[in-house]
Amino acid sequence: MRKSLLVFFVALFALVLAACGSNNESGTSNESGKTVYKVGIDTTYPPFEYEVDGKYVGIDVDLINAIAEDQGFEVQLEAMDFKGIIPALQAGQLDISMGGMSITEDRKKVVDFTDPYFDAGVSLVVSKDNSEIKSVEDLKGKKVAVKKGTVGANYADSIVNDIGFEIIQFDDSPSMFLEVQNGNAVALFEDYPVISYAIAQQDLGLQVVGDRLNDDQYGIGVLKGKNQEVLAKINQGLKNLKENGKYQEIIDKYLAD
Ligand code: GLN
Repeated sequence: MRKSLLVFFVALFALVLAACGSNNESGTSNESGKTVYKVGIDTTYPPFEYEVDGKYVGIDVDLINAIAEDQGFEVQLEAMDFKGIIPALQAGQLDISMGGMSITEDRKKVVDFTDPYFDAGVSLVVSKDNSEIKSVEDLKGKKVAVKKGTVGANYADSIVNDIGFEIIQFDDSPSMFLEVQNGNAVALFEDYPVISYAIAQQDLGLQVVGDRLNDDQYGIGVLKGKNQEVLAKINQGLKNLKENGKYQEIIDKYLAD
């Protein structure tokens, strides 16, 4: 009798341990009992993520807030260099990645992405008075600015040996723009919606050359194999916001006209 009781408790204990082990959801609870997820953003990236009067704004910021509201969780936004977002996710410092992050096969090895929420694509950008660079082939022997850890930087890496140019790396987009504005570099690679928004907002003295070089789309991410419940919630929230018009409202708020 005693022995069977002991076996019972050992089995129960094992079951409890297994239940704890399989709980790979993260986030913390706040006073109202809602789960708070930490979201990594790149606040040098208008119109998706930027800072106005000490407040984070932009398409991504409004979108994740609206999704959180729709799905009954809360978010805590963590600003960081874009290149730091995936490492922070891997280190468990973040639950969710944003940052205007393109869904790529390479990133899918470590990140599970939501359904795509925005069509972006990389563009070649030069100074407004440059009529010499008509395509990437014309970059031969020139200096090209890229932002660390981005698809633009990967694109440059993928063609640099064939074409032959010098790559200069930056941590954020404004510094990369400046490098071409002041003539230190001849060209840069940036996502089309980001550079076209920047050019429309202020006279940067920059222009986009030719068509987009790929058709990357943005996705919200969680660490691969983890936080699948919140991934499903974000997808459901995205779907709801598309259906009820809120998604379009957010896009129009930043991109109308
Ligand atoms: N969309 C690009 C990428 O995913 C750039 C993102 C960014 O610079 N914030 O690499």
